[in-house]
Amino acid sequence: MNPVDASRRSFLGTSAAFAGVALAPGVLLYEYAAAKAPGAAASPAVRWGMLVDTTRCATGCTACVDACNSEHGLPKATRPTDAQWIRKVELKDLRTGAVRSAPVMCQHCAEPPCVDVCPTGASFKRADGIVLVDRHTCIGCRYCMMACPYKARSFVHEPTTGQKTDTPRGKGCVESCNLCVHRVDKGGTPACVEACAEAGHRAIVFGDLNDPASEIARRVRAATTTQLRADLRTDNGVRYQGL
Ligand code: SF4
Ligand code: SF4
Repeated sequence: MNPVDASRRSFLGTSAAFAGVALAPGVLLYEYAAAKAPGAAASPAVRWGMLVDTTRCATGCTACVDACNSEHGLPKATRPTDAQWIRKVELKDLRTGAVRSAPVMCQHCAEPPCVDVCPTGASFKRADGIVLVDRHTCIGCRYCMMACPYKARSFVHEPTTGQKTDTPRGKGCVESCNLCVHRVDKGGTPACVEACAEAGHRAIVFGDLNDPASEIARRVRAATTTQLRADLRTDNGVRYQGL
């Protein structure tokens, strides 16, 4: 199944309050930028990524979307303009008619157009490949939303409620999947990966693409995998199997 369409938009179109006042939300974000664990720098030797096995992803299942919303305090998206960090899409092979279901989120590009166009430096890539937005530097110009080929970013149009300690959000800013960096820096896995496994599908594998012994690296070596819109050469950290 070839995910490439004449129009990248049509292809993908289907789709804080902190506990303590001593630490400003922005400070916490900068900590994420600098540290994998307290005192340890994010290592350029690591390339965090995800492999989505579309043969295991269930049509109609939204466990990953629900978990993402819950983890980051996002209300369920009901309108096209609502913030959404991960969404389910259905992909149809025009030759065979086969339909595959897959989650699409920020692809954590090694060559991220969002970072290239950001006039303030709010969009940035960590040494370990995680692409983030510092909401305290973001001026809401939305250049990054136009530059992102994957429709991965959302603009926050309305005041936020129900903020989570680890995910500062704010009206007037752009946001996207942060690969659950707060979990990753503690040795955990993103919420969507965990929820997918708990739902019995295990369609998303998270890990270090640079570690030859990791499950994700082994599977990327062993199977045919795809990067969405590989022709754009953004070198995505999210790979797809079964497309
Ligand atoms: Fe940036 Fe979009 Fe790539 Fe994510 S998918 S790194 S938002 S260009
Ligand atoms: Fe940068 Fe924010 Fe503008 Fe996006 S909306 S390009 S993150 S300043």
